Amino acid sequence: QTPPAGGKSGLLGRLLGRESSAAPRRALDDDMLEQLEELLITADMGVDTALRVTANMAEGRMGKRLSAREIKELLAQEIARIMEPVATPMPLYPKKPQVVLVVGVNGSGKTTTIGKLASQFKAAGKTVVIAAGDTFRAAAVEQLQIWGDRAGVPVLTAPEGSDPASLAWDAMAQAERDGTDLLMIDTAGRLQNRADLMEELSKIVRVIRKKDETAPHNTLLVLDATTGQNALSQVETFQKLADVSGLVMTKLDGTARGGVLVALADKFGLPIHAIGVGEQIDDLAPFDPEEFAAALTG
Ligand code: GDP
Repeated sequence: QTPPAGGKSGLLGRLLGRESSAAPRRALDDDMLEQLEELLITADMGVDTALRVTANMAEGRMGKRLSAREIKELLAQEIARIMEPVATPMPLYPKKPQVVLVVGVNGSGKTTTIGKLASQFKAAGKTVVIAAGDTFRAAAVEQLQIWGDRAGVPVLTAPEGSDPASLAWDAMAQAERDGTDLLMIDTAGRLQNRADLMEELSKIVRVIRKKDETAPHNTLLVLDATTGQNALSQVETFQKLADVSGLVMTKLDGTARGGVLVALADKFGLPIHAIGVGEQIDDLAPFDPEEFAAALTG
């Protein structure tokens, strides 16, 4: 049997799977575009972005007869075009400490991502300290300490239930005193009570600005790729709660729903600094638009 033209698991495998490479070319017509749109929507790209991608594909090519490979390449090219402007690593500044506030809902992978990032920064020769700002969840603090140990980076903690802003203040003081390069501050992710969370986050920001009016230098929003379209509403919510400067998308290993990244890039244009591709400390990769587009369309 001939293997599917687009690969087994990729988007186009499903649409073009029955066609061998020797199959006749198909016309890029309304019918084909509709099928493509449907596929993109199934992959969590959202209606608006799916329509934009297919419209771009069709531009100047309507009625053209294309092979399965050509369709796949065109699609990948259009996706990569949307993703390229947002693929930027987290900017580093000469500031000491550079303050990185990490926000996101519980379970999105904040703790894991902080550990992975700390490990990468350390490997790059930076000194790093982590503040366990989710003081209401003892388990969160413990988890972060485990990740700090793995990364070989100290984790500053405060008693359970204490004010995260006061921990942030102490952490700033210590990082300044020690000349630490990077201070990463974990935060709570309880969206159930937005007013409280907003107050908590803005208090942390107020306090660190008293020490350094340019801080926080980065506000990273951690998103779970497996939540699909939910990620879009999380960006909207957190943009109201904090001044989000960039995204880390976790759990991109083993999900067929990566299409939401395209929707995010198209809608918000926020930089995607890194992607989580597993549960181990080294499973954080730079975001590569072409590789991503090829994998998605596969
Ligand atoms: P937090 O509540 O936001 O701090 O989330 P955690 O960092 O504790 O992560 C929640 C779960 O997601 C844990 O079981 C992690 O191992 C898992 N996780 C985090 N990032 C990734 C990733 O990139 N890939 C996979 N497969 N699992 C991840």
